[in-house]
Amino acid sequence: MDHRHSLDLKNAIRAIPDYPKPGIIFRDITTLLGDARAFRRAVDELVQPFAGLKIAKIAGIEARGFILGGAVAHQLSAGFVPVRKKGKLPHETVSVTYQLEYGTDEIEVHKDAVKRGERVLLVDDLVATGGTAEAAVNLLSSLGAEVVAACFIVDLPDLGGADKVRRLGVPVRTLVA
Ligand code: AMP
Repeated sequence: MDHRHSLDLKNAIRAIPDYPKPGIIFRDITTLLGDARAFRRAVDELVQPFAGLKIAKIAGIEARGFILGGAVAHQLSAGFVPVRKKGKLPHETVSVTYQLEYGTDEIEVHKDAVKRGERVLLVDDLVATGGTAEAAVNLLSSLGAEVVAACFIVDLPDLGGADKVRRLGVPVRTLVA
């Protein structure tokens, strides 16, 4: 991506030190979402490699992946699938538990959200350790979907999450590091 554009996006994201706990720098994309030009640019840049690749569905990870994923789905004329925290979806689900720094978390999707062989693009705001994205890839794959790629606005490269997802055989696109 054009370096100037990447810098604009970076400047549109706010860093909140010690949130949600001491030592964490929270990358707050609400400032980017509230900036019409930055929001459009981020969505345009995210979808750019995937236009014409016959993506059937966008899977967005709760909650910021819903906002981006909805816009990306519209742009690619794809459907949208919410990947949610445990206990929020009303119909039959499949779920996967994954490891956090302390403890575990669980995400789920509706069993009928994707069809066997359907081409799916995974979307979230940020990849850190890659644990959430890995779990989402496993969940979608277990339903027979082909996860074509995963895309994120922000990569925290020191945490190695993007590489973890690539090791699953899923290409990763990120816009700012
Ligand atoms: P991970 O599973 O470690 O890759 O964490 C990714 C998920 O946690 C994403 O849904 C992010 O929105 C959120 N997240 C993790 N670290 C941060 C951070 N430093 N700033 C903002 N969001 C984060």
